Amino acid sequence: MNKVELEKRVEELSSLLHQYGHAYYVLDKPLVSDATYDTYFQELLKIENEYPALKRSDSPTQRVGGEILAGFGKVTHENPMLSLSNAFNEADLRDFDRRVQAATTANVSYICELKIDGLAISLRYVEGRFTQGATRGDGTVGEDITTNLSTIRTVPLRLDDPISIEVRGEAYMPKKSFVQLNEARDAEGEEPFANPRNAAAGSLRQLDPKIAASRNLATFVYAIGGDGTDYGIDSHSEALNYADRLGFKTNKERKRCASIEEVLQYIEEWTEKRANLDYEIDGIVVKVDLFEDQEQLGYTARSPKWAIAYKFPAAEVMTKLIDVELSVGRTGVVTPTAILEPVLVDGTTVGRASLHNEDLIKEKDIRIGDMVIIRKAGDIIPEVVAPMIESRTGIESPFNMPENCPECDAELIRLEEEVALRCVNPKCPAQRREAIIHFVSRNAMNIEGIGERVVDQLYKAELVHDVSDLYTLTKDQLIELERMGEKSVANLLSAIEQSKENSLEKVLFGLGIRHVGVKAASILAEEFGTLDELMKADVERLITINEIGDKVADSITTYFSNEDVCEVLRKLKAYGLNLAYKGPVRENLPTEGIFVDKTVVLTGKLIEMTRGDAKKKIEALGGNVTGSVSKNTDLVIAGEAAGSKLVRANELEITVWDELQLIQALGEKEPEQ
Ligand code: NAD
Repeated sequence: MNKVELEKRVEELSSLLHQYGHAYYVLDKPLVSDATYDTYFQELLKIENEYPALKRSDSPTQRVGGEILAGFGKVTHENPMLSLSNAFNEADLRDFDRRVQAATTANVSYICELKIDGLAISLRYVEGRFTQGATRGDGTVGEDITTNLSTIRTVPLRLDDPISIEVRGEAYMPKKSFVQLNEARDAEGEEPFANPRNAAAGSLRQLDPKIAASRNLATFVYAIGGDGTDYGIDSHSEALNYADRLGFKTNKERKRCASIEEVLQYIEEWTEKRANLDYEIDGIVVKVDLFEDQEQLGYTARSPKWAIAYKFPAAEVMTKLIDVELSVGRTGVVTPTAILEPVLVDGTTVGRASLHNEDLIKEKDIRIGDMVIIRKAGDIIPEVVAPMIESRTGIESPFNMPENCPECDAELIRLEEEVALRCVNPKCPAQRREAIIHFVSRNAMNIEGIGERVVDQLYKAELVHDVSDLYTLTKDQLIELERMGEKSVANLLSAIEQSKENSLEKVLFGLGIRHVGVKAASILAEEFGTLDELMKADVERLITINEIGDKVADSITTYFSNEDVCEVLRKLKAYGLNLAYKGPVRENLPTEGIFVDKTVVLTGKLIEMTRGDAKKKIEALGGNVTGSVSKNTDLVIAGEAAGSKLVRANELEITVWDELQLIQALGEKEPEQ
């Protein structure tokens, strides 16, 4: 390339990387795979190294992370939060080792750590109390996400030692939570997150801390800030042990390596084992252990020279897209799935992959007959990354979503602000089948012995049309079904009979009212006590309930105004279903712990959670929460401005905790008395 061409390429790469970086860091919605981003980044880095004159101060290679979102306060980091330089193969790691050896004198040892695929966070403590949590932001200034971070169980609100300290680490979303979150989003017609990292970042940037709290995030601390010598520490490994002692969660898989050979071995080992972890890692971080050696090596503008991140190669494979299959879910959302020529990805054969929704297919221009790139999102769910446009032969055909439901032929509609197409015909057989499957599922009526297969059989045999028909099934009808013996029929009938005794929240969740999940169902059951009372409530009444918003309230009233729904509910009642709330569930409660069999009274205003939440959490840990203080009370939790109940507790010499002690106890730690 001549000078003009090089300049043009630098411009092109910078603008692409800027655009991709914005989508990734700011919007939490990456446009391309990390591997693609890294390839462009390395190309730009290479040109800049060879022609330093072409390096601009605003080049993406000089920047760390993204911009600051409006809506959060700003936090200026005392020491910048940097990124890490990358290694992609053994040669890169050996180069790193050579540079380290040249700059240091004695025998260097390394600490190898898993590179957790989440987002960098800073946690600040003053005299042992958690005072501020922030994102990395652009490295110099980050966002203040203290409230969201304090909802994460692994972030201690109080340290075991009342010192002032800043620690840094990674906030992440475990694989299981990621899959559940995306399934729920898909069902609601919301766009799924591309990977656990974006999901974690998106969750921590919610203005409503309740959302962050519901996302099951966790953290690992990987550094203490400031000068280690302040704490009598002179190496990274000691710093991590110190963090452990203070009460932080660090990753236990770390290993000290005496040579680069040992580092390579560690990498090989984790390349194999990483699929078994319950969180995602995208590489291995190698750090020089001694602080003295780290100082010798120093920093670039973007990253420390004493550490490097080895990145695992992306498991992306190519295969042919044979067809697109459509399925209709319980809520009527029509989801396209790619049918693929089976191919091995990361050790499992993949023949189907999610295409999410029509917009995504159009945006990526995916056509039937295309060769496509497949990978596992978050290492778990197979998805189509992109078509190989250069491999097209001309016979590929664009995919168009049908205008009518593939199951019942009703017209599909797109609700406002949704990407998904929905069939809104309440009589659609696919939806009815899915609705029955949902009704019998574990969190709903929990009718053992009926799964997808049996529901299919019952539906085809025209024995059930809606959920109420389950309660009319007879032995003679069931025995006719394929693979049904005397014993399984008897078990099934008894499971159906037993389910009539379930408490109201199980029924409510089972009905599959849009936006009413397990939690909302419990809140409603507790609030109204009976189905009849709930059915009488209008939107104004519903939104007075904490945690029930406009969207949920609307959905509930619309649901109960449907005549077909009312008919099903009348039948359920006639068949003897319990439609009343039976009080907090007392099964499966722990038998050991601070709250077991303790009578607790909550008083005053709590800051970090509502009293309702606190009550539920205590009950879930085996405690009883009552309204008034008596000599039978074991513990009083006094929030701000607590009044007569606190006075009474003191008179009766009952143990009183403040909110922090409660939060610590909920985090399964013994609070200080
Ligand atoms: P990085 O993810 O490559 O590495 C630095 C980060 O690693 C740290 O900030 C920290 O958060 C994390 N980390 C995890 N475990 C750690 C440990 N044990 N010790 C220290 N740090 C640890 O760097 P980055 O600047 O956050 O992101 C750059 C990467 O992001 C790129 O390489 C690319 O893969 C990806 N990216 C992708 C796109 C896209 O469009 N797909 C866009 C921008 C960036």
